[in-house]
Amino acid sequence: MKKIAVFPGSFDPITIGHESIVKRALPMFDKIIIAVGFNSSKEGFFTLKKRIEWIKHTFKDYPNISVDTYEGLTIDYCKKVDAKYILRGLRTSTDFEYERTIAQNNRLISDDKIESIFLLTSPELTAINSSIIREIFHHGGATSIFIPKGIVLEK
Ligand code: ADP
Repeated sequence: MKKIAVFPGSFDPITIGHESIVKRALPMFDKIIIAVGFNSSKEGFFTLKKRIEWIKHTFKDYPNISVDTYEGLTIDYCKKVDAKYILRGLRTSTDFEYERTIAQNNRLISDDKIESIFLLTSPELTAINSSIIREIFHHGGATSIFIPKGIVLEK
């Protein structure tokens, strides 16, 4: 049976932190699906279309990495695509506490069928997060050092 992992998130926008986690996790799975969670009643900062386009561009040379969108519970999406693993990145102890609760509950409500796998962020990427990039972009600052190569952020 193929080992499929879902890497869920808002990716608003994708950062070199996300890129690094996915590339490091790739040897562990047959396939990784980057699943952009959305809420139809709440638009993100960048459009869903742009966010997907940027992720596709980032992993265009990786046939085992695909991009999809989902609304609702992450575990329902995992069941739909037959993924037994949820991949997440951990930057700080705050991330850990937040992720612990979600992962434990996801395991409970999936009858112990879906495991969360965590990778610790590379130290130099710990401070990078999408919300800071949005803030810099909003004020006209340079964002290129935080986002994967070849992407130019635009609204
Ligand atoms: P969410 O809103 O679900 O946290 P994000 O798009 O912000 O979605 O993050 C998706 C995943 O990527 C999360 O597991 C998050 O911890 C991880 N992540 C975000 N930034 C980094 C980074 N700089 N290094 C490693 N992992 C990161």
